[in-house]
Amino acid sequence: MEKKIAILGSTGSIGTNALRVIESLGPEYQVFALSAHSNIELLAQQAKKYKPDFIAVTNPRFAQELHDLIGDLDVEILSGPEGLVQIAQLDDIDIVLAAVVGSAGLPALLAAAEKGKKLAIANKEPLVIAGQLLLEKTKKNGGSIIPVDSEHSAVFQAMQSGKHEEVHKIILTASGGPFRKFSLEDIENATLEQALVHPVWDMGPKITIDSATMMNKAFEVIEARWLFDMPSEKLDVLIHPESIIHSLVEFVDGSIIAQMGVPDMCLPIQYALTYPNRVPGISRRLRLEEVGSLTFHKPNMEIFRALRLGFEVARIGGTTAVVFNAANEAAVEEFMAGRIKFVNIVELIEYCLNKHSNKNNVSLEELLETDIWARKQVKKYLQSGNKSII
Ligand code: MG
Repeated sequence: MEKKIAILGSTGSIGTNALRVIESLGPEYQVFALSAHSNIELLAQQAKKYKPDFIAVTNPRFAQELHDLIGDLDVEILSGPEGLVQIAQLDDIDIVLAAVVGSAGLPALLAAAEKGKKLAIANKEPLVIAGQLLLEKTKKNGGSIIPVDSEHSAVFQAMQSGKHEEVHKIILTASGGPFRKFSLEDIENATLEQALVHPVWDMGPKITIDSATMMNKAFEVIEARWLFDMPSEKLDVLIHPESIIHSLVEFVDGSIIAQMGVPDMCLPIQYALTYPNRVPGISRRLRLEEVGSLTFHKPNMEIFRALRLGFEVARIGGTTAVVFNAANEAAVEEFMAGRIKFVNIVELIEYCLNKHSNKNNVSLEELLETDIWARKQVKKYLQSGNKSII
């Protein structure tokens, strides 16, 4: 049976890899819709190559530019954030692969969940800020969520060998990021240049800084809480610098099932598309004899305070997770602009979390209001020139 796919965020690193994977899977898998924000040149190239029926340009200023470049193609071009929601809901689409930066893809994912689609979610924000809402909607409408994030794909795969109630612990692995060996003092003096170099994964600047603070892993703890319906006490993080084991599930009998592979996003992308089947793919194959040894150690939560906060936020849930994400985005922006120090990122997040009173079971509107509130708190705090931070 043919599978028609919408890729939300097709010009980013996940999007471009997804297109390579889909191409390798043969004619059964079809690129039905694409979306991008502003990389119009690449989007036009993709349109010519993959011939989608629909394209959404989320930044309306660039829609005309795309028209000019591919006006001769038989494709409907939608513009603005509504365009993203429209393509996610198209009746013909079987799978929505979401790889939009930030929370911009959330309304589209909720719309797709409403239609009972299969959602392959690659970016963290939708599950972090609206995990409960997304899961409820998916369940109610007969859809499914298959994680693409490498750790959650690994957990999802390991979960196939036992039942939900047989899980003792979910263990997410972490490379440790660029500051894995840093002391508290090193972290104090960390620079933007240092934070932008990741030892294993080649990703965008925001995510690379998130791995330096380990906010990235904190988000993954929250994601796992919702994706696998596990209380935070059953979640754990283990530093594994080689990034060969992508995560593990420990079952009640003591068996630990790990998923291994070379660090290459093509594998989790493909598994999300072909699940429950496995087919040959383009991912490099793992040669354990070349790896030699694998090492593990506990993360230091005194140094990486963001990670400890992540477990707490996973326990509380509700709008607290929205504040956690929005304050981080705002603080990372300030850090990248050179206005605050690396250590201030987590301080600003803690400040916002302390000021916030949590609400549970809220609507999308309330989630988005909380998002705006948290960003404002960051700005206000910095404008007040509080010396303990800047
Ligand atoms: Mg990950």
